[in-house]
Amino acid sequence: MKRQNVTILGATGSIGVNTLDVIRRHPDRYRAFALCAHSQIDKLFEQCREFTPAFAVVRDAPLAEELSLLCRKAGLPTEVLHGVAALVAMATHGEVDAVMAAIVGAAGLEPTLAAAQAGKKILLANKEVLVMAGELFMHAVREHGAVLLPVDSEHNAIFQSLPSDFSRGLSESGVRRILLTASGGPFRTTPLAALSDVTPEAACAHPNWVMGRKISVDSASMMNKGLEVIEAHWLFACPPERIQVVVHPQSVIHSLVEYVDGSVLAQLGNPDMRTPIAYALAYPERIDAGVASLDLFQIARLDFEAPDFARFPCLQLAYDALRSGGTAPAVLNAANEVAVAAFLDRQLPFLGIPRLIESTLNAVPSGPEGSLADVLQADAEARHVASRLVRASCPA
Ligand code: NAD
Ligand code: MG
Repeated sequence: MKRQNVTILGATGSIGVNTLDVIRRHPDRYRAFALCAHSQIDKLFEQCREFTPAFAVVRDAPLAEELSLLCRKAGLPTEVLHGVAALVAMATHGEVDAVMAAIVGAAGLEPTLAAAQAGKKILLANKEVLVMAGELFMHAVREHGAVLLPVDSEHNAIFQSLPSDFSRGLSESGVRRILLTASGGPFRTTPLAALSDVTPEAACAHPNWVMGRKISVDSASMMNKGLEVIEAHWLFACPPERIQVVVHPQSVIHSLVEYVDGSVLAQLGNPDMRTPIAYALAYPERIDAGVASLDLFQIARLDFEAPDFARFPCLQLAYDALRSGGTAPAVLNAANEVAVAAFLDRQLPFLGIPRLIESTLNAVPSGPEGSLADVLQADAEARHVASRLVRASCPA
């Protein structure tokens, strides 16, 4: 069996590290061909030492020079590149079989779209790509024969619970609804009055998952589930009214698919991202992911609740942006990225996140998704407006 060459976009992040852990377990099957990160040179160098990729990519020339020196001193053959063009080159390289898209936020759009245009196998964690440019991205996947495998745990569960030919249409496959589970995050039961002054540390302390800071805050505001509703819409061509969010605090059922005959299929497992990562890497085979057996006796019970739209206004904002269509989800995503960064920087209170997003959506007119340039322009305009609103809300 030929080893698969894997490019990891976002190698030093939570998904990147978990991906390397799965690759480490299967050196006969996978080779880390290119490791791409932003600025964590020390961590990336350690990864280069262990996996000796052909290429490493960092943000800019000075960082590339620094990493290159470290690699040369250690006698590594790794060539160090920098910038967005290098990310695109690694996502489309002729020797690459699979691309793990695990950059956080809008920064992942260009290389991931390029991977689709190059017809690669794409392991998609970077949900913001589909939120910003779902139509463009899915079109590129179809047009260029790329293989798209969802890594987000819920979408991976849905993928596993659908028939393999679901792309002919959910109705044709007898699907009635998609039930998208959500843990409810760290503030599911926090008194509403106390939400006004929660700290970034509290927001990042997720009860079930260890993740990057941005997605952790998104989970606390439930914007993560809102983004995932949009992600599910594009991945499975499912209309919004047939995507039901189900709060399930234990995060054991990763999502469900309901069929017209009343059958409901689900995928269960310990909350460990190595399961969906290994599934996507090996698809359609199965490989060991290093994940412990699910102990149902220990779990003992599974609970379900309806989502509280009053407590989590971000969820409604996402449904509304999806229904508006065009560039509205790109505006939602950009405003959310600015709001989350401001919250982590202590410049915006937690409850200011949905307010800032709503004001930005009201201020930036939505146009058709059209081309990548349209999406990037909507993204830039929304960031500009949202940043101005942050400054206005917090005078220096
Ligand atoms: P993280 O913050 O831990 O890691 C982000 C990675 O992206 C890092 O390697 C960083 O170097 C890189 N990066 C950031 N900005 C960049 C830029 N401008 N250019 C190049 N690289 C850049 O994030 P994460 O938790 O690993 O999440 C990554 C993506 O996966 C997100 O879109 C998230 O929503 C999605 N996701 C994560 C989880 C999880 O469990 N962590 C689960 C589902 C989906
Ligand atoms: Mg998820």
